Amino acid sequence: MRIYNTLNARKEELVPIQEGKIGMYVCGPTVYNLIHIGNARPMIVFDTFRRYLEYKGYDVTYVSNFTDVDDKIIKRSVEEGISAQEVAEKYIEECRKDMASLNIRPATVAPQATREIPGMLEMIGTLIEKGYAYEKNGTVYYRTRKFRDYGKLSNKNLDDMQSGHRDIKVTGEDEKEDPADFVLWKPKKEGEPSWPSPWSDGRPGWHIECSVMAKRYLGDTIDIHAGGEDLIFPHHENEIAQSEAANGVPFSHYWMHNAFLNIDGSKMSKSAGNFFTVRDIIAKYDPQVLRFFMLSAHYRSPLNFSDTLMDAAKSGLERIKNAAANLDYILANPGQRPQEYLPDEDSQFAVPYIEKFETAMDDDCNTADAIAAVFELVRTINSLVKDTSSVAFVKTAREKLGLLCDVLGIILEEPKDELETEIEELIAERQAARKAKNFQRADEIRSQLDGMGIVLEDTREGVKWHRK
Ligand code: AMP
Ligand code: ZN
Repeated sequence: MRIYNTLNARKEELVPIQEGKIGMYVCGPTVYNLIHIGNARPMIVFDTFRRYLEYKGYDVTYVSNFTDVDDKIIKRSVEEGISAQEVAEKYIEECRKDMASLNIRPATVAPQATREIPGMLEMIGTLIEKGYAYEKNGTVYYRTRKFRDYGKLSNKNLDDMQSGHRDIKVTGEDEKEDPADFVLWKPKKEGEPSWPSPWSDGRPGWHIECSVMAKRYLGDTIDIHAGGEDLIFPHHENEIAQSEAANGVPFSHYWMHNAFLNIDGSKMSKSAGNFFTVRDIIAKYDPQVLRFFMLSAHYRSPLNFSDTLMDAAKSGLERIKNAAANLDYILANPGQRPQEYLPDEDSQFAVPYIEKFETAMDDDCNTADAIAAVFELVRTINSLVKDTSSVAFVKTAREKLGLLCDVLGIILEEPKDELETEIEELIAERQAARKAKNFQRADEIRSQLDGMGIVLEDTREGVKWHRK
């Protein structure tokens, strides 16, 4: 499998540190608001990449953090009149709901920065000891020029950068030894969340958080580090400087970055105000459509959000789901079909499409081409499978289609068994009876279901049922 490594600006064969295992760190959101669909892009594409690694047999440790202490969170807490921690907890929970809607699997570990302060104090201490950091008035800065490889990820040169912003002075610039130095620890301001440290009561800088969480859960050297391309500089460049100076070994072998989700040609972002939340979109479309739309482009190509493209994703997804539903229907209605393969039914018919799918995914996670292979499989299934096809043949078709959709995180509805169908028909009949004010019939149905061991629950989203 080859992936594009930002560090070396080329596609490279994926060689894990430990055979059969991958440790992967993906920078997660800053939780001060509902996530927008731009934030959802790295979540969806790297979740799909993880699923494919697992499909190939790798044991994947997937770490993705929540940044739960930050200026924006503090600002929000003042606006909402609640603590910064309450803001963060609230939006972590909302983010988890959106991720579940989009069928993004929970990370193996989802650390929160505020729970990792001891590790940060330790790494900052090490950096000071090794001469890579210094303290001034309670603030700790990273001595950027001391790290010889600074700029290797983003291809930036410190001298060029400096001549660019010689005139721009920001707070604290005067006390830095060099304008390129960045903050590892900063003293608190009145009313801000803070932790004690040898330098001041304060809080960590954003970059140190990821270096520390990656080290704790994946080790000093990790296989893959990923995130949106806006993070290449300064965030990931600074992570490399911190981790490699502190640990004395390479930080990450591969760096993967997704391109932006744009709207009218410019980056969707909270600060520019040109965004849709995941909530906005899934009120209009099935969340699966949003996921499918994201995967319809290669992750390193910019993707423009539009209703036209969402509608195209919707109909593409329907084509796949209809093919699966048709196979399920044939399987559920056996009739007089032969149990064995017929001579004209080749059990290997799906192989070329699976190969095509894998070739695409092996080539830097090309989901666009992988989806094209799924469409070809669907077309073949639709033309080959007939009412008279053998059970084994239809089963193979359904299984292979399910296998590929699962890598993409697309859920094909499982066929309902007879009992489930009967229960749902009874519930629908009860709803109709209630609407017609025939409460006697409605009660009869409720007790009939009760006798079958089914409990009904009236919820805002309609009637739900579960077994006793
Ligand atoms: P943030 O909450 O801004 O730190 O972003 C969380 C993640 O979403 C990072 O990996 C960003 O690179 C990514 N991201 C933010 N906006 C976009 C966008 N418009 N398109 C793609 N990725 C984005
Ligand atoms: Zn990060």
